[in-house]
Amino acid sequence: MKALVYHGPKKVSVDSVPDPKIEKHTDVIIKLTTTNICGSDLHMYEGRTDVEKGKILGHENLGEVVEVGKAVDTVKKGDKVVLPFNIGCGFCQNCERGLSGYCLTCADPTVMPGMAGAAYGFAGMGPYSGGQAQYLRVPYADYNCLQLPADATEKENDYVMLSDIFPTGWHSTRLAQLEPGQSIVIYGAGPVGLMATLSAKIQGASQIFVVDDIPERLALAEKLGAKTFHTKDDKVGDQIRALTNGLGADCGAECIGYQCHNAAGKEVPNLVMNSLVDSVKATGVLGVIGVFIPQDPGAEDKLAKVGQIAFDFGKFWFKGMKMATGQCNVKAYNRRLRDLIHHGKANPSMIVSHELPLEEAPNAYKHFDNRDKGWTKVLLHPNAA
Ligand SMILES: [Zn+2]
Ligand SMILES: [Zn+2]
Repeated sequence: MKALVYHGPKKVSVDSVPDPKIEKHTDVIIKLTTTNICGSDLHMYEGRTDVEKGKILGHENLGEVVEVGKAVDTVKKGDKVVLPFNIGCGFCQNCERGLSGYCLTCADPTVMPGMAGAAYGFAGMGPYSGGQAQYLRVPYADYNCLQLPADATEKENDYVMLSDIFPTGWHSTRLAQLEPGQSIVIYGAGPVGLMATLSAKIQGASQIFVVDDIPERLALAEKLGAKTFHTKDDKVGDQIRALTNGLGADCGAECIGYQCHNAAGKEVPNLVMNSLVDSVKATGVLGVIGVFIPQDPGAEDKLAKVGQIAFDFGKFWFKGMKMATGQCNVKAYNRRLRDLIHHGKANPSMIVSHELPLEEAPNAYKHFDNRDKGWTKVLLHPNAA
């Protein structure tokens, strides 16, 4: 089959590789019909992770089941399914609690002592191949496959967002404990930040503030009803306090991660976290879902090299704030978010800018990585005729 393979910093190509096989009786194989390029793929693409050369990337996957292991019960050949980016077993102590992003069965314990969680085609998340390919092996298929309704093909570009960015955006608002009628400030209007904006709107936020430095992304956030601020704007915290009776937003979402940069384009790893401490009210909660990593040898910043930031902890403590972090447990939300799409209450595909064949993936990575104008979200169709 053909697959998008990582060969080193900014070097990816579409290669011929062996087809995946059923390895355990609980596996299925799917034929990918849509697979997305994610902002978090760019950390690997840029060589800012320890992902191994030869890895097939791609963790936002939707397709048709073509082969079924003997012990699979509910998934049948021909089913159209979307897969959470995290791979869970369904029976370990974390999966049992709904924390499928921290599965203990599927994790690779050699990565880091105490590490949990697994994902397709991702650095440090186990030996699993990604889905930017024609075919993909899905472990524990009964648990991981979310079945799609009859409008699966018609709304495919919406449903594929259930693999990661829609649940991840939703998760940021849940970690931030947003309640109907409250205000939220969201840092980052990339695909996940925009999904956080959509989620906050669905959950009845009274005001949604979005901060980013790319005008076209801010325009999309405005379309979703947000009030937007350019990173260059002076003192975003003061402006938000002016709109919230001097208090600050009720809660905040971090949707950027460790490679955040200032208006001049320089990476300043603590910028967003400290801006959130400033712009959220005393006692407010922060939901942090942008990727931060334990080591970043490629960083210029000395602290960032060892996974640290200079955090305004004094101000955070003094304001009595709370914070919750980590990757989204997609299984905790994807079924209900699927139903919002099915019943016309959510259209996450509004951010899609490109639909391309797999062969175009290397070129798409380049444009998406450069943040080239117009490249907000890329969908690949690996088996398009
Ligand atoms: Zn993703
Ligand atoms: Zn598990």
